[in-house]
Amino acid sequence: MTQPTAIGVLDLQGGVQEHLDHLRRIGVVGKAVKQVDDFNHLAGLIIPGGESTCLARLLKIFSLHDVIVREYQRGLKLWGTCAGAILLAQENSGDTAYLGLIDIAVQRNAFGSQLDSFQCHANVPRVSPDPVPLTFIRAPKITRVGVGVSELIRINDYVAAAEDEQTLVTVFHPELTSCLAFHRYFAKKCGLLPTVETDIDTTWERQAWMGAAPG
Ligand code: GLN
Repeated sequence: MTQPTAIGVLDLQGGVQEHLDHLRRIGVVGKAVKQVDDFNHLAGLIIPGGESTCLARLLKIFSLHDVIVREYQRGLKLWGTCAGAILLAQENSGDTAYLGLIDIAVQRNAFGSQLDSFQCHANVPRVSPDPVPLTFIRAPKITRVGVGVSELIRINDYVAAAEDEQTLVTVFHPELTSCLAFHRYFAKKCGLLPTVETDIDTTWERQAWMGAAPG
C-alpha cells in the first residue's frame, strides 16, 4: 500500500480555500475532498469552519458522513475548525451530535452573534514557541473534555483547542491569520513533514479572505 501523502479539506461549504492555501504555504499537498474517491492517499482531513447544520446536511446528501467515520476507524487523522469542531464533538449543546468522533462537549454560538466575533492571542507551547493569534467567528465553546482528550488552550471557563491521539479541534480559525503553526502541527500529527519551518507567512494578506482587493 502506498503511503498517504496529502491532507484533505472537506469541500462542501465554508473556509476551504484558506486551509488549502495554508497547506501550500507549509509545503504540504492539500486536496479538496468532495467525494469518496478523494479520500485515497489522505493522511488527514480538515473539516473547515462554516455552518455546522448546513455541513451536516451536506455530509448526508453527498454520502460522506459514513465515509469519514470509516476512514477515521482506519486511522485517518481529523482536524475540525469551528463548525468542523462542532461536527466532530460527541456532545452538541444538548442537540444531536453529528460525527461524534472526539469526546468533547461543545456549545454552539457561545459568544453571541456574528457581530461578537473577536481576535486575541494565546500561548500554546505544544504548537508554537510564540503566542498564536486566534480568530473567533460566531464560535462555539468546548465546555467539557473527556478522558484521553487534552486541552491545548483554556481561556477562562472554556477550552478553545483540544486533541486526542487522532483528532484535533479548534474553535477558532488559524487559516484566517498569517500564522501557520497549527497547520504545521496538524501535518506532523498526520506523519507528514512540512517543508517550510516558519510559523508566520509574511506574504499573507488579510484582505485575501475578506474578498477585498489589498489596498
Ligand atoms: N456558528 C457556526 C455553527 O454553529 C460556526 C461558525 C464558524 O464555523 N465560524 O455552525
